[in-house]
Amino acid sequence: MPGDSFAFITEYENYDDYIRDFLLIVSPHDKLVKDDVLRVSDYTPHMKKLEKSRFDEVFGVWDDLFRMNKSKKTNLQDVLNISDYQKKMKNFNKPHKDDIVVSSADTKTFDSLIKRIMRVQRIVGHGHFQLYSLDDAIKAGKNYSRIGPFSREELKFMETIFYNDASRYGFFGQKTLNNITDKTKSRDVFKVPYTGNYIYRGVPLDMYRQIGKQVGKNATLTSGVRGIMKQFYLFLNKAAKNGKNLSLASRSLAPPGYSFHGNGDFDVGQVGFGLSNFTERFTTTNVFKRLYDLGYLKLRYPEKNYLGVRFEPWHIKTNQV
Ligand SMILES: [Zn+2]
Repeated sequence: MPGDSFAFITEYENYDDYIRDFLLIVSPHDKLVKDDVLRVSDYTPHMKKLEKSRFDEVFGVWDDLFRMNKSKKTNLQDVLNISDYQKKMKNFNKPHKDDIVVSSADTKTFDSLIKRIMRVQRIVGHGHFQLYSLDDAIKAGKNYSRIGPFSREELKFMETIFYNDASRYGFFGQKTLNNITDKTKSRDVFKVPYTGNYIYRGVPLDMYRQIGKQVGKNATLTSGVRGIMKQFYLFLNKAAKNGKNLSLASRSLAPPGYSFHGNGDFDVGQVGFGLSNFTERFTTTNVFKRLYDLGYLKLRYPEKNYLGVRFEPWHIKTNQV
């Protein structure tokens, strides 16, 4: 490629504009190939004079996407959107312009559904509800007049949420459950005394007990096994409290079917630290420091992740998936 084509780049004051146009030249067909980027960067000595960290940042993102997609081509737009992405993840609890919100046609169904799910949780009890399957909830709706049966629209809405690709909300984590009707078998889980939470027997329970021994009584299970209904409740309730914004909810709670809490992962917090156990303040606690020193925090959602999920330093990854 002739170096002359890039002469205009020296005019740029704004580094983001520079990178955008630079990548567009490299990739006129909207596809980016690493070797091309490296080759063209040799033609732009001006690059070296400018703040290099911004380019490295964008290039790092490109590299991550490249590895995630496992293909040689990466969509240019994905890379260019990254500044916006990083801003969004820093302010994960705020709405953003491209967020997906429940449509006005579904508003009534959404409102009645979240209320019904809340009634199920209240009436069957928080403990039982942790493991509730869709069938359990449907049965409870029929059996208890205070809950009332799920309407056809409500069930259809839940199916849409479950079977839609969550990347439309901006969530890129892995799917962990295939069917909305999947159940947690009670013989597979253990109820941890005084926590109201369950944990999977086998590796997760062994790990949790080991943590108890090594970190001490200050460490507690803040969230363990979550059945499909619990994940629906958490996700939809988060959206309900934030203008029915499904994307905003997905930045801190995996959409139903995508949570590793259905698969062995669990959250650990410090006794008496309350809801702060689910904020970055958890990193200031002794429990966090001990977990970190002992090597437990091979995080599912590290500080720098491109899965559309906020930093979760309390979430313990238990399997190799
Ligand atoms: Zn978690």
